[in-house]
Amino acid sequence: MPASSDRAPEAAQRTFRPSAFIRGSVALHAVAGGALLIEPQLWPWSLAAVVADHLVITAAGLWPRASLLGPNLTRLPPRAAARGEIALTIDDGPDPEVTPAVLALLDRHAVHASFFCVGERIARHPQLAREIVARGHALENHSQRHLKRFSLLGPRALRAEIAGAQEAIAFATGAAARFFRAPAGLRNPFLEPELARAGLKLVSWTRRGFDTVSSDPDRVLARLLRGLAAGDILLLHDGHAARVAHETPVILTVLPALLAAVRAAGLKPVTLEAACT
Ligand SMILES: [Zn+2]
Repeated sequence: MPASSDRAPEAAQRTFRPSAFIRGSVALHAVAGGALLIEPQLWPWSLAAVVADHLVITAAGLWPRASLLGPNLTRLPPRAAARGEIALTIDDGPDPEVTPAVLALLDRHAVHASFFCVGERIARHPQLAREIVARGHALENHSQRHLKRFSLLGPRALRAEIAGAQEAIAFATGAAARFFRAPAGLRNPFLEPELARAGLKLVSWTRRGFDTVSSDPDRVLARLLRGLAAGDILLLHDGHAARVAHETPVILTVLPALLAAVRAAGLKPVTLEAACT
């Protein structure tokens, strides 16, 4: 049974428009190649220019909040910020031990979040995926397998990672995701054309708690609340969660205090989709 959702089963394809930086890189390669034909003795300069360009491309892919390689949502649109909205994003689930408790906490505070889930985990726990949607949250695409080498994949492998999770989400809930987050936020220039083809928008974050590696809830909370403002996109994890005193997942300790601080600041957590419409 598909969960209740007003989303269509497929996302509409976007037109891929290379960023100014990518267009510049292509032009630089053409100029370097042309120079080589006309003045072969200048090859060290051509080579140096191309190597430098590739270093910048790689650095941009390893910097999760960069938008050199294509559009990348790091904050909510100004109109959402003007409404006092922020977005809670919760990654790497669904997790049978953590996600139900996260859902109960969000219910208690009457707020909605965006869950960036891993395709193969959705396939393992489809009921949890349906539960996320049934409670009014958004289920988004965090790749099929959450590979550490995601940013090293070529176009075909990226397409499979995106499509695999998209199919798992559609199969479990009957609806398509609208947003994509790369594993650890790491990318390469082949990702944006594939996201456009799949009708997905890349999202990173304004701030993250590093709650997969830090088991100190106070530090995670402080990182998330530093400079809290309307329009923020905050990142926590229900999958791969670090544990407080080897037991409680950090998110369960942090969320109540985080939601209280958000409310005290007069801000309203909404899904990415609600904020961007
Ligand atoms: Zn992740």
